[in-house]
Amino acid sequence: STAALAPQICVVGSGPAGFYTAQHLLKHHRLARVDIYEKLPVPFGLVRFGVAPDHPEVKNVINTFTQTAHSDRCSYYGNVTIGKDVTVKELQQAYHAVVLSYGAEDNRILGIPGENLSGVYSARAFVGWYNGLPENRDLKPDLSSETAVVLGQGNVALDVARVLLSPLDILRELREMINLPDTRPLLAPADFTGLGDVIKDVPRPRKRLTELMVKSALEKPGEKEAGRWASATKEWGLKFRRSPLEVLSAADGKQARGIRIAVTRLEGSGESARAVPTGEVEELECGLILSSIGYRSLPLDSAIPFDPKLGIIPNSLGRVQGEPGLYCSGWVKRGPTGVIITTMNDSFDTAQSVLEDLQTGVLNLSSSKEGFKSVRSILHSRGVHPVTFSDWEKIDAAEVARGKLAGKPREKIVDPQEMLQLINH
Ligand code: FAD
Repeated sequence: STAALAPQICVVGSGPAGFYTAQHLLKHHRLARVDIYEKLPVPFGLVRFGVAPDHPEVKNVINTFTQTAHSDRCSYYGNVTIGKDVTVKELQQAYHAVVLSYGAEDNRILGIPGENLSGVYSARAFVGWYNGLPENRDLKPDLSSETAVVLGQGNVALDVARVLLSPLDILRELREMINLPDTRPLLAPADFTGLGDVIKDVPRPRKRLTELMVKSALEKPGEKEAGRWASATKEWGLKFRRSPLEVLSAADGKQARGIRIAVTRLEGSGESARAVPTGEVEELECGLILSSIGYRSLPLDSAIPFDPKLGIIPNSLGRVQGEPGLYCSGWVKRGPTGVIITTMNDSFDTAQSVLEDLQTGVLNLSSSKEGFKSVRSILHSRGVHPVTFSDWEKIDAAEVARGKLAGKPREKIVDPQEMLQLINH
């Protein structure tokens, strides 16, 4: 029958990787059914819980994901943690193919003394807190310190710095950090001299950003800008060739009061350049330290291959090594770098591998699979109640309505219990 020929596929994780994988499969296979499992009641992963609140246009991808979820061959099951409520093996029994797209839910650690003092936070936790991620809702970071140090200069570090500096009503793009009201940039001219030749070969948009920094560091500001900088009450700067050695504790032994940093110089050039300590050391007084040195994926289940060093599931073109029928996409496939477009492309590649394996018979459709029907009975027996996409749409409507009262796009509900009550779970 046709039903027996319809591939039953499931995706673990409802971030960009999960949704783009589902989208590609549904678009290019007329019969495929795709179920998306998500551990939180609410969908969209880092689009909801990572992307900064002043980048609303980035969040527009949610519209595309919503269209995918509305397909009559796609279902969303939130509030189901794979690896705990259902194992990957159980999913493999219920589906012809299982795609792991569960992102990177941990962060790299600095590995320096003092890292656990209060006042030191991972950027991941801090971002989760300002974005209403349930697990970080009680973080309550102490923001009373005069000085904050962000370790790292990647996109997430810059998001965090901009959010710290921005007045609530003007959260803008980093590109415009130089133009933020009431702030002045502190950029050491020595760090930016002689960059002219290098900039020529830098790809955009990094080129534009570097040009802007060089201009701000080396050129005399215009009259208006000079006036604004002179009266600013907040300042920010970028420090290069520095490596953290130790977080210094206050007299109570608990609170961070500063950080000791090694000055480094580059040895070698290009890809093989390494920062080595010069022997010179600096100390900086600060009560807030955010380490922004990268996210990290975790193994889901000891039965699934995982490379702890690279923090990814070993795979070729999304096919998990040694596990036919098991695939991966997104940050857990490539590691925690790259924007949503990068994640989209790699998810389409993984979906393409699934489609090829369907065509070549690597995935055997003659054994009929029950899909969600069999998972539903497992969940039922374990007392787990999945949240559907229309349940999410009720939570969404409630958040938007609460936001309207406060004059914002939405007021996120941060307590999963409250979400579940709202939909009578
Ligand atoms: P995620 O988005 O993390 O999705 C993984 C999903 O899996 C989550 O919903 C998670 O809850 C779920 N999950 C985890 N474990 C389980 C489990 N056991 N069972 C079921 N579900 C599970 N990109 C841009 O293009 N523009 C930006 O402005 C931008 N800003 C960013 C800001 C920050 C702070 C960060 C961290 C990233 C930003 N990115 C941005 C990058 C972008 O968010 C990523 O490329 C993308 O989200 C990665 O997608 P993913 O689906 O692999 O992971």
